[in-house]
Amino acid sequence: DQPAPRYQRVLLKLSGEALMGDQAFGIDPAIIFRLADDILALRAMGVEVAIVVGGGNIFRGEGLAKAGMDRVTGDQMGMLATVMNGLAMQDVLEQRGLEVRVMSALSIPAVCESFIRRRAIRHLEKGRIVILVGGTGNPFFTTDSGASLRAIEIQANIMIKATKVDGIYNADPVKDPAARRYDQLTYNAALDQRLGVMDATAIVLCRDQGMPMMVIDIHAPNNLVRAVMGEPVGTLVTA
Ligand code: UDP
Repeated sequence: DQPAPRYQRVLLKLSGEALMGDQAFGIDPAIIFRLADDILALRAMGVEVAIVVGGGNIFRGEGLAKAGMDRVTGDQMGMLATVMNGLAMQDVLEQRGLEVRVMSALSIPAVCESFIRRRAIRHLEKGRIVILVGGTGNPFFTTDSGASLRAIEIQANIMIKATKVDGIYNADPVKDPAARRYDQLTYNAALDQRLGVMDATAIVLCRDQGMPMMVIDIHAPNNLVRAVMGEPVGTLVTA
């Protein structure tokens, strides 16, 4: 018998920036194909998977606002960028024979379903992968906050953020070679140290609702499966 996964229903946050790999823009096909294999492996273990995708590889509202453009319009463009990434993920997952539904916080009925909480849960129960796009549907938020919100709404057992770094460090590991990675951290410690890898709104939401969070490296093969089995990869954030 296979050992049972630690987490039965997982919300996976894929940051847009991580999807572009070494490219300057867009999606690196090699990365999404590999991710699709990891997600297939999770399904084979019977794990229910919802995915929130970011959009930073295509567009961020903040940048344009700094250049003088309306922030809300920029954020709407950013939310639309997450729809594009979600459609790409849908395609690669379907190519692997998985059943997938894209659900958007912004209604785009010609392209995908709208997010309806009870319907999303039903899809998961039927074994479908649910890709949640459009972030929270509101400007001034991030897809990390969207991921926390949706993880709580769909009653996931954990929110896993897969990104370019392999966990939460006490300093920026890119700038400081002496930076140390935490295996485990409390919500408040993560907030106090203003560790850039996750935004404060996302952490507070998970803290207040008791949703465990994990940060793992998107590039390490099999990391996702190991994380879901409860192995100590990345950084776990809990009370
Ligand atoms: N965005 C937004 N509201 C949300 C989620 C995202 O306005 O609830 C916009 C925002 O402009 C953001 C962009 O969409 O910069 C892309 O999302 P994010 O930066 O979170 O993507 P990631 O960092 O994961 O690539």
